[in-house]
Amino acid sequence: MKTLFVSGTDTDVGKTWVSCQILGELRRRGIRIGAWKPVCSGAVQHDGQLVWEDIRSLASAIGVNDTDHALTDLICSHRFQAPMAPNVAARLEGRALSGDDLVGGLDAWEGYADLMLIEGAGGLLSPLSDGMLVADLAQRLTSPTLIVSANRLGTIHQTLATVEAAQSRGIKVVAVVLNEVSSDLDPVLRQANKDELKRLMPGIPLCTAGHGGAISGLLQEVDFLQWFDADRNATDC
Ligand SMILES: [Mg+2]
Repeated sequence: MKTLFVSGTDTDVGKTWVSCQILGELRRRGIRIGAWKPVCSGAVQHDGQLVWEDIRSLASAIGVNDTDHALTDLICSHRFQAPMAPNVAARLEGRALSGDDLVGGLDAWEGYADLMLIEGAGGLLSPLSDGMLVADLAQRLTSPTLIVSANRLGTIHQTLATVEAAQSRGIKVVAVVLNEVSSDLDPVLRQANKDELKRLMPGIPLCTAGHGGAISGLLQEVDFLQWFDADRNATDC
């Protein structure tokens, strides 16, 4: 299976939203695509199940009914209730995950999908378990990685730091998606963030996504398939 890892500069920058755009588009093209979230925290009890909004969104994007627990378990099998870093949330429940436990969740998809989108938790250097950061998992899987970044004040530092952390581990950054997470972004700041990141990250394709479900022309025109191919240099967008 070819994989694409979707990570971010922070939590709540739109990783799931961007992931669902990619999943939806590839599914419409008839590609057998799967979605995997290695771990989630902040899950809530509902009808005897631990549910979480991101799992619902990812399931819906790949055409899985969220009442199909066997398939939603494939999307995310390790769920913790405290809305904290997953390893801390696990500890509060007297549980712990090893790197092998985490990777086993991806292996379970074998035979069900040709392409896998993997959504990390939090930002690139957030812990998944006591011994594994999100970046360690992306590195172990040798997954090409997409970085989602929020278009707001402070994004230049956060984006550059995240890309540098990825590259220092040998993780291939296929693109950065600068995502407009609020409806009242100053248009001057919006453009300045884009121009500065373009200038400061030569060689890294930069895509933008507009606020409120409207994908800007840039993200709309991207061939998402190119991001799953570690040997291919993604084109600018
Ligand atoms: Mg998410």
